[in-house]
Amino acid sequence: MRVVVDLNRCQGYAQCAFLAPDVFAMHGEEALLYDGEPDGTRRLDVLRAEAACPVKAITVEGAGAAWTAAGAGVSNGP
Ligand code: SF4
Repeated sequence: MRVVVDLNRCQGYAQCAFLAPDVFAMHGEEALLYDGEPDGTRRLDVLRAEAACPVKAITVEGAGAAWTAAGAGVSNGP
């Protein structure tokens, strides 16, 4: 599984760090640090973070065909 964050788009909302703290971490108030190749056991957390990012800055590749952000049961809206 590969994770890419568009840091030009990221606004530091920290939703990802809250949902997948093993993969994403805030460094200061705005800088995001992340693991670009997280362990497969973190897959659901990463997909939840991808779905929750308010500016859709997170891209996840190779998470498996059966798993999509929508399939992770997360929604951004009411
Ligand atoms: S949730 Fe999105 S905008 Fe917020 S820190 Fe993570 S990647 Fe950046």
